[in-house]
Amino acid sequence: MTQQAQELPPIPPPVPQPESDFYWEKCKAHELWLRHCKACDTAYFYPRDICPECFSRDTDWIHSSGRGTLHTFCIAHRGPTAAFRDRAPYVCAIVEMEEGARMPTNLVEVEPDPESIKVGMALEVVFDDLNEKISLPKFRPAR
Ligand SMILES: [Zn+2]
Repeated sequence: MTQQAQELPPIPPPVPQPESDFYWEKCKAHELWLRHCKACDTAYFYPRDICPECFSRDTDWIHSSGRGTLHTFCIAHRGPTAAFRDRAPYVCAIVEMEEGARMPTNLVEVEPDPESIKVGMALEVVFDDLNEKISLPKFRPAR
């Protein structure tokens, strides 16, 4: 999936924060982990210490199955910056994980057209090794 990356401007990498260091370390190992609230039993994304549902600090990490379904998507035909301009068209998506959390991401290994992409389709995580520190979780149709 990075076969063209050498020829294009690099995608600006996310900047890990202390609350997300564990998340990025696990992504680098090609494992997807989500935050989970023990007070209200809710999994959530993005990773942060305080539950966005009930504001409890009684939270921990859960190892995601990496499987989910497509909640919504759009096909970007014009990238907003040089790094994305030549990668268009590409698919931006919200994936609902089996654990319940919804993640913003990209779809890969699928044609970027509405005939190939359907809300509710089964997806599985794959990791795009962006650089030596960051591997981005993206999703492809489940096999
Ligand atoms: Zn909660």
